[in-house]
Amino acid sequence: EEPAAVAAVPQAGDPSLVLLRRVGTVDPSSLDDYRAHGGYTALRRAFELGPAGVVREVTESGLVGRGGAAFPTGRKWQATASQPDRPHYLVCNADESEPGTFKDRVLMEGDPFALVEAITIASYAISAHRALVYVRGEYPRAVHRLRHAIGQARARGLLGDDILGQGHRLDIEIRRGAGAYICGEETALFNSIEGYRGEPRSKPPFPVEKGLFSRPTAENNVETLVNVLPILTKGAAAYAATGTGHSTGTKLFCVSGSVARPGVYELPFGATLGELLALAGVRDRLRAVLLGGAAGGFVRPDELGIPLTFEGTREAGTTLGSGVVMAFDDTVPLPRLLLRIAEFFRDESCGQCVPCRVGTVRQQEALARIAERTGAAAADDIALLRDVGRAMRDASICGLGQTAWNAVESAIDRLGAYT
Ligand code: NAD
Ligand code: SF4
Repeated sequence: EEPAAVAAVPQAGDPSLVLLRRVGTVDPSSLDDYRAHGGYTALRRAFELGPAGVVREVTESGLVGRGGAAFPTGRKWQATASQPDRPHYLVCNADESEPGTFKDRVLMEGDPFALVEAITIASYAISAHRALVYVRGEYPRAVHRLRHAIGQARARGLLGDDILGQGHRLDIEIRRGAGAYICGEETALFNSIEGYRGEPRSKPPFPVEKGLFSRPTAENNVETLVNVLPILTKGAAAYAATGTGHSTGTKLFCVSGSVARPGVYELPFGATLGELLALAGVRDRLRAVLLGGAAGGFVRPDELGIPLTFEGTREAGTTLGSGVVMAFDDTVPLPRLLLRIAEFFRDESCGQCVPCRVGTVRQQEALARIAERTGAAAADDIALLRDVGRAMRDASICGLGQTAWNAVESAIDRLGAYT
C-alpha cells in the first residue's frame, strides 16, 4: 500500500520533529515497531503519576487545543474529571474538515498507535472507560489503520479490562462521519454519534458537563491528544520550554497553494509565517496568504513577519485556527476564490439558525454578482456584505455562522480586494 502520509511530510526523518517524528520511519501496522520507537512509555508514566498527576502535568505544560480554538486542555480535563455524574466519555475529534487541513490525517495514517496511546492516557486522566474517535468519512485509510491499531492494542492488553495490569478499563470505538462539515463542531458531532441530525447545540452547558449522551465529556482534537505523549515523556517543564509563554510546544501547519513543497510541517510556536513559507518554497509574485482556513483570514505578503502563535496572530488581527496556511500568487483570481469560500459556507450551513442559513446565501449571491462583473464591486454590494457579515457573526449559534464572513472581510479590508 502506498504510504500516503509520508508523502505529505517534507520534513520526514528530521530528528528535531516531535509530533511527526515517527511518521515515515515507523511501520504504522506494527505495535512492536511502535514500541521500538518509544511507544507506550508515556502510558507507563501516566500510571506512575495517577489520573490527577496526568491532569497536573498537562495543565502545567500549557497545552491548548489544536482544533483551532486553543482552549486549555488541562482545564478541560480537570473540569470533566471533577464531574460527579457518570459515565464520563472521551471523544477524539478526527472529523478534520476545515478546507486546507490535513494534519490529523497524516498523524492517524502515519502513526496510529500514538493516537491510541494518547486516547488511553486521556481517558485514564478523566476516568472514562469508553472513548470514541469520530473520523471524517473521507479518510478510509486512517480508519483502516486506526482500527488495526486498536485491535492490536486490545490483543496485547493495552486496551480492555485491565490495561498493563493497572486496573484501568477502556475500549475505543471508531465512528465515521458522512461528509458534513458541521459534524466537526463538537456538539453536532455528539448529535451525529447519538443518531440525531448533525446540528450544533447551544453552549453552555459545555460538553465537560453535558456532552455525549448528556454526560461529562472531554472532546479533543487528534493533534492535541498526540501532544500528551511528549508532555509525559519529557515532563511539563521541558515541553513548555519550546514555543512561547502562551503557545507552548510545536505546531503542525498544513501548507498548500502556490508553494513548491506543499505538506504538513512541524515548527516550534513562534516561528514566523515567512520562515514557514520559506521551508515550503513560496513562489514569486505572492498575492495573499489565507491563515486559519476558510474561517480564518487573509494576510498580505508584507505581513510575513507575523509570529505563528495563538497570541501573535490574534494581535495581528488574524487567527492561527487549526494551522492552515494557503498561499496564493497573483495568478489566482481573488473574486473567484472568495466566491468559492462563500459557496462552501452556504452549502455546509446546517440551516438551524436564521442568521447563518440566510446570511450565507446572501453573502454568496453578492459575491457571485461581483465575480460576474469580473471583480468590480458596487458600493451597495460591499455595504450588504458588511451588514450580513455582522449579523452572522453576532447572532449565529455556532462557529460556522460566526466565522463565515471572516475571509471575505479580511480580503476587503487587508487585501483591498475589489478596489
Ligand atoms: P469554542 O471556543 O466554543 O470552544 C473550544 C473548546 O473549549 C470546546 O471544546 C469547548 O467545549 C471548550 N470550552 C469553551 N469554553 C469553555 C468553558 N467555559 N468551560 C469548559 N469548556 C469550555 O470553539 P469551537 O466552536 O468548539 O471551535 C471553533 C474552532 O474550530 C475555530 O477556531 C476553528 O478554527 C476550528 N475549526 C477547526 C476545524 C478543523 O477541521 N480542525 C474545522 C472547523 C473549525
Ligand atoms: Fe447551523 Fe449555521 Fe446556525 Fe451553526 S451557525 S447552527 S451551522 S445554521
